[in-house]
Amino acid sequence: MPCSDFNTIRQVVEQSNAASYQHRQKYIIQEQATLFDLWEQVACKCKEECECKKYGCKTHWKLKEDVTFERFVDGLSRMFVPGAIKLLDDNGSPLLNIGVMKKSIPGILTSMRAHWEVMKEIAFNHNKTLICSDWSPTKWNICNEGNDRWGFCISESVYKSKINCLLFPDICVSYDTPSRKKIIPNCLNGRADISYYSMLEILRSKLLEIFNHTNNKNTAISEFKKLDVPGGNNRAFSPALIKRNILINYGAGFVPSERPISRVIDKYFYLP
Ligand SMILES: [Zn+2]
Ligand SMILES: [Zn+2]
Repeated sequence: MPCSDFNTIRQVVEQSNAASYQHRQKYIIQEQATLFDLWEQVACKCKEECECKKYGCKTHWKLKEDVTFERFVDGLSRMFVPGAIKLLDDNGSPLLNIGVMKKSIPGILTSMRAHWEVMKEIAFNHNKTLICSDWSPTKWNICNEGNDRWGFCISESVYKSKINCLLFPDICVSYDTPSRKKIIPNCLNGRADISYYSMLEILRSKLLEIFNHTNNKNTAISEFKKLDVPGGNNRAFSPALIKRNILINYGAGFVPSERPISRVIDKYFYLP
């Protein structure tokens, strides 16, 4: 994001939330379901010298422990795939023919399924945010047969970013095709050929710049996470609109008020 102040970010994010509430996908409702279903907010366990502590970090968002591959894919479908279509067959194998716009998904999911237990373990145990000094998990490259999972070029399938975001909600930013078109000129100096890892590094440095310009640096992380207010302007959360997983109790509101870092950045660029 360009070096915006918190007020500007709040206004832009609000426009995204308002538009998504009107949109048939009801994105903010599906996103709230994911906050309950796949993610958890846990205490920051970083040492005092970690970068996140300079900005008053107290909590992190991360993947829950007991998430199965099938449940993860349901979350992907619910939150990020238009129409929330079925992506797996009854045996949990990725369906191959799911539409031309999503043709990259089966291959990505097939590779993920083979490595799911290791990937889940790493994501669950990586209690970090994008601001943390050691924000990138060191063992991450073992999950992709030699290629770093964050080494892909940002011009590849948008679903790679979405899957990473679901695995690491406080670190990995998702994008779709239109929002990527905004991120590239606004944040990345027009470069569409850089890796996802490099994009995250750049976004991280932009965030630090923004935090350092705030009046209260020692609460900057928490204030930043509160810039996304899905229930603003009296928008109601309706569990009836959630797709999939009827076994989960999704609560009754857009809580808690501190959202994952990725949600704020994502919505700054995303307009349904
Ligand atoms: Zn922290
Ligand atoms: Zn930290």
